[in-house]
Amino acid sequence: MKNISIIGSTGSIGTQTLNIVRLNPDKLKVLAISGNSNIALLEKQILEFNPKICAVMDAENAARLKARISTKTKIVSGMQGLLESVCLQDIEIVVTAISGMIGLQPTLEAIKHKKNIALANKETLVAGGSLVMNMAKEYGVCILPVDSEHSAIFQAMQGNQTTAVKKIILTASGGPFRGKKRIDLLQVSRQDVLKHPNWHMGEKITVDSATLMNKGLEAIEARWLFDVSMDQIEVVVHPQSIVHSAVEFIDRSVIAQMGYPDMTLPIQYALFYPERISNLTPSLDLTAIGNLTFEKPDLDTFPCLALAFEAMSIGKSMPIVLNKANEIAVELYLKNRIAFVEIPQLIGDVMSKHSPIDIGCLDDILNVSAWTEKNIRNN
Ligand code: NDP
Ligand code: MG
Repeated sequence: MKNISIIGSTGSIGTQTLNIVRLNPDKLKVLAISGNSNIALLEKQILEFNPKICAVMDAENAARLKARISTKTKIVSGMQGLLESVCLQDIEIVVTAISGMIGLQPTLEAIKHKKNIALANKETLVAGGSLVMNMAKEYGVCILPVDSEHSAIFQAMQGNQTTAVKKIILTASGGPFRGKKRIDLLQVSRQDVLKHPNWHMGEKITVDSATLMNKGLEAIEARWLFDVSMDQIEVVVHPQSIVHSAVEFIDRSVIAQMGYPDMTLPIQYALFYPERISNLTPSLDLTAIGNLTFEKPDLDTFPCLALAFEAMSIGKSMPIVLNKANEIAVELYLKNRIAFVEIPQLIGDVMSKHSPIDIGCLDDILNVSAWTEKNIRNN
């Protein structure tokens, strides 16, 4: 039996993780869950999974939830509560299904308590990649990718030496606006932005997929997870989302991982690694799919992807600025305060004002993040 903690259990990845638990009650036990605003769902999850602890970020929501439940589950709140929910003694693996850089501190706390990490929360690696990977090495912890592309790369690398990797081919669906030009994006509606062609996900990552920032964040995520340089990462647009990514080795062999767009496999692969277990997803029918196509990304229409590579090449504190600026820009967009095309403008503006500094510890990251936030909100 594997004991797990899920931070962000009410979200898209969180609820899909719980589906896997439901199908494998003899293999997985949920010891901790967490959320922020959706206390009705947290209440249901407590009743069904009976975790030892439930963390609710918002203190008022935590109090409301406490008043509603009569089980022994301990309700905690704030960042302190979230940290508590990842380090219970019997937890073996923490699924980071929370959205945004807020996941960084609980991830570091879990690593310090020697918990393996099933990492969906890519913003954590974008902001704190060096710190997280170094600490994981120091504490002997595995960082197991949940993001479908990174799971594909991880699967392709099994049995191969990392020194034999020539290049990572990171596939992208292209999002809902693939094939459009910059001028077309002036008119897009919120409904169009939030309608991803292949995946049903949380709002923030869905906007990131429409701007292609998601692929930029994933490139930085891949850089840290697989210890490759920026030049070894190629983004290829593949609208069918069947090839989830591939690795080219020095002998020119390319190993790809395929499947329908469904997060079940990457989540369960991380949870059960190195074991493979069966699931209810249908077999891939290649003749029914017929064509798999590949094209270059359009960096002119989707400047967020170029900004992410720029931040990665500058390094130091710049990816933190990129990530935080993007989080705020997406939040402002979702609140109808800025237009879709202003997202990259806002990120580019704040990046151009930032003088990169070396990053040594969590406080350095939080300070740069606070600087970015202040800079945007004061303008
Ligand atoms: P969702 O928006 O669906 O879920 C986010 C979760 O985080 C919810 O449980 C939410 O709680 C919680 N949360 C949000 N803000 C806070 C906060 N300030 N404090 C505490 N908890 C908070 O996101 P997704 O599941 O789509 O994505 C989660 C992560 O996984 C992201 O980093 C994303 O990039 C990554 N990812 C997602 C994929 C997908 O298919 N969805 C695929 C690959 C990666 P509540 O609902 O209670 O407010
Ligand atoms: Mg992905």
